Amino acid sequence: MRALYPGSFDPLTLGHLDLIERAARLFDGVVVAVLQNPGKQPAFSLEQRLEQIRSATAHLNGVEVGSFDGLTVDFAGRSEAQVILRGLRALSDFEFELQIAHTNHSLAPQVETLFLATAVRHSFLSSSVVKEVARFGGDVRHMVPPGVADDLARLFNRTSV
Ligand code: ADP
Repeated sequence: MRALYPGSFDPLTLGHLDLIERAARLFDGVVVAVLQNPGKQPAFSLEQRLEQIRSATAHLNGVEVGSFDGLTVDFAGRSEAQVILRGLRALSDFEFELQIAHTNHSLAPQVETLFLATAVRHSFLSSSVVKEVARFGGDVRHMVPPGVADDLARLFNRTSV
């Protein structure tokens, strides 16, 4: 069975990576896909985000990296994924994620949404928190893969973060 793990990944965090590593053990294939959301102005370009994910997942078998726009369920069909994977950090994620899961189910009942509870040690992490810390010069090396820490340092014009 194949899973699609969609998200903004702006940037990829160790929480995302933990989810991808666990999914890679559960599924025959995992497609990590960056959603190109016209409503959001990302900090990192699509190419940068794809490169961040590619280099952080290079050690994993069965992980593919891609991007899409439009409906997630349509992309799940195109990538032959039967499952859409999402992470749940806290109760605050639940309401929104449940609404999206119900919407996707109404559009494509053959595609199931599965949730993985995020690792406790990464449950406080979000891409926005990481950017906020990096912007003000905080150390983010325990929050993101090394390549992302370098990208954040460059983004905020610092030699090290
Ligand atoms: P989106 O804009 O689609 O929410 P994100 O990149 O913020 O994109 O998140 C993509 C997915 O990763 C979501 O399912 C989200 O719940 C999950 N996620 C976000 N942060 C973490 C984390 N720290 N640990 C595990 N999963 C996470």
